[in-house]
Amino acid sequence: MKQLVLASNNAGKLREFAQLLAPLGIELLPQSAFGVEEAAEPHVTFVENALAKARHCARTTGLPALADDSGLCVAALGGAPGVYSARYAGEPKSDARNNAKLLADLAGLADRRAHYVAVLALVRHPDDPQPIVVEGEWHGEILAAPRGANGFGYDPLFLVPERGCSSAELDAAEKNARSHRGIAVRRLIERLRAQ
Ligand code: IMP
Repeated sequence: MKQLVLASNNAGKLREFAQLLAPLGIELLPQSAFGVEEAAEPHVTFVENALAKARHCARTTGLPALADDSGLCVAALGGAPGVYSARYAGEPKSDARNNAKLLADLAGLADRRAHYVAVLALVRHPDDPQPIVVEGEWHGEILAAPRGANGFGYDPLFLVPERGCSSAELDAAEKNARSHRGIAVRRLIERLRAQ
């Protein structure tokens, strides 16, 4: 496998994944180069959404495809916002409104435990019976107020207990070293190297 299409139109994700996969001699191409639109994410689990995006991309491009799906799961909310993390406060997507809603939903609750999840799915072709699926988790707590300006999404509210700061107060390298996405990508690389 020399070329892989990333089933995302997010330039930041493309840059990050391309750097991580370069040592394997794999060229990562954006799905936008093939005119592929963002696929729907209709499922209730991360793994189903990641697989649906990867299959859609492989079917349209005729090349192997990699997709990711991620989100924040809060214990006291029964795992919400979960797969709905990007649009927790409705359309249009807004990190600021999502964070405000999360704080409101947790007001007065003592249990602040939460974890991020990232699932990556790689299919060699649309009907690949044995896709590579890996998952990473990052456990922390939800702060009472936002802190820090790095990262994105819920990072200003995500306390990293072992560092005593929010994930928006970590630099990119430290976040990658600890994060759900970083863990999942390293697992994917191990699986690709083993093949
Ligand atoms: P997607 O994987 O691009 O669909 O992102 C899902 C959503 O989960 C994002 O829009 C964020 O709200 C949230 N999320 C996923 N990973 C992170 C992270 O590393 N930091 C903060 N928020 C995240």
